[in-house]
Amino acid sequence: MEIIKTRQRRPGGIKSEVKQKYAHPLQFYSLPPEETISLQEFEEFAVERLKVLKAVETASVRHVRGSTEYVAYLEKEIKNTKFKSLLKVSYGGEVKEDEMDARRLDHISHFILRLAYCRSEDLRRWFLQQELDLFRFRFQRQKKDSHLSFLKINNLGYKPIPDEEKTKVLPYLVACDTPARVEVNEYYKVHFTEALDLVRGKRVYLERGFAFVAQDDLASILLSVYRTRLSHALAVTCRALPHLEEDDRLLPMLCGLSKRYLGQDYNNKKTNVGQITADMIDLLSRTSFPPCMQQLHQGLRSNHHLKHGGRMQYGLFLKGIGLSLDEAMKFWRAEFVKGMDPDKFDKQYSYNIRHNYGKEGKRADYTPYSCMKIIMSNTPGQGDSHGCPFRHCDGDLLRQKLRAQNIAKDAIDEISKFAKEGHYQLACGRYFDASHNISGDNVETSINHPNQYFEESQNIRKDGGKKLNTPNPGRVIRVSASQNSQAVKTASQLTDTQNTGLDEMEDDFPMEELDSMLQETQ
Ligand code: SF4
Repeated sequence: MEIIKTRQRRPGGIKSEVKQKYAHPLQFYSLPPEETISLQEFEEFAVERLKVLKAVETASVRHVRGSTEYVAYLEKEIKNTKFKSLLKVSYGGEVKEDEMDARRLDHISHFILRLAYCRSEDLRRWFLQQELDLFRFRFQRQKKDSHLSFLKINNLGYKPIPDEEKTKVLPYLVACDTPARVEVNEYYKVHFTEALDLVRGKRVYLERGFAFVAQDDLASILLSVYRTRLSHALAVTCRALPHLEEDDRLLPMLCGLSKRYLGQDYNNKKTNVGQITADMIDLLSRTSFPPCMQQLHQGLRSNHHLKHGGRMQYGLFLKGIGLSLDEAMKFWRAEFVKGMDPDKFDKQYSYNIRHNYGKEGKRADYTPYSCMKIIMSNTPGQGDSHGCPFRHCDGDLLRQKLRAQNIAKDAIDEISKFAKEGHYQLACGRYFDASHNISGDNVETSINHPNQYFEESQNIRKDGGKKLNTPNPGRVIRVSASQNSQAVKTASQLTDTQNTGLDEMEDDFPMEELDSMLQETQ
């Protein structure tokens, strides 16, 4: 089938079947797309929706859903994506091409992410929540005529109660709502199970198992319908997925999507290469490294060694901050030879370092790991120092570590809460704010990449205008074997639910090539 580039003008305007297919700005995504699209488009569409869903997630953590700040944040974020035309609130009249393209993008991208996010319970839960929030946000922006037409197009069969019935129950409706709202709203009579949110919030009048829902609250009913349909669809897609696994082009892309990092890659091709030397790292680790890298640095200094996962995570991060190959070799060698024969280092470990810099093997210039990659893959085992402390440490140990770094109690409470709820990057952002004396009611710093953390920290410290709180390096908490195994167990429990075998695939690094060449144990 024809592939239509987003910004191309169509000769003869938009086809009538396209108009019919995307007659409304909102969809329940009942029918899968039947077009043929290129792999490049497939990936672009997925990434674009992922950006929107991640913004939806961040908005709901930072602000109360539906609040002015929430709406403003989402509008701002969506305007930076190809979904921006979907922010239009007009309904009816001629639909412009850009809007129609956005509706098509909305449709296709939803189904691509369904494939990527149906694979495990955790992924399904995340996707469902963000899709529901996105639907609510978009539905509430629409006007009344658009709401009614959405009900009609989707054969939802909800009809307003007649005026006589409304008059009969008027005193009860007023008891649940303001008289002004009751007067202007039409009411829908639905089974109470379809409006559980409203029943729970005592915001509806109930009579013989039926709830009287105001038109303003219609979103609650539709969300309930959408939740049921999408949950079912995700389960069905998951069962059908094994058939897709034969396709070796789509599979790696789908597996990588849930760990996808959407920002800058922070390899050291940029201007900072050579600006950092081996002897600066101790100081920088105390002032500007994120907790994951502080932990690796401490592990290396204490044991004069890091296992493979730690060397990869830390080595590529150091490369990203500007450590040249010569300086990296000097840094790693100086520490490793404190615990082993220099010959052994030269034979077994120097290859690994040169490989990171694209001087061995495939000679690829590997990029530092993003937060998503660190959080979602290669769970640390006993004796490992890699991973993300907010994800891989148990709650008590995390608090202990934060206290040891003189982080204020209210910040520790917030960080622990974010970490407990699975918002690891927001926990890191709050840690960043606390350790850089940035205050405010809401979390302001959003961390997506350890090298972004480093750059932002350096920018603030270069400004020098603030008295900064340097984490106390002398009081780094060591993780005992029992604490570590507990932390690892917690992480494994989470990971077990996520792994379907597909998550094990690396999306941007040939681990097997390195592993077979290095054959390194301890
Ligand atoms: Fe490191 Fe990212 Fe975890 Fe922060 S959120 S500790 S930068 S992996």
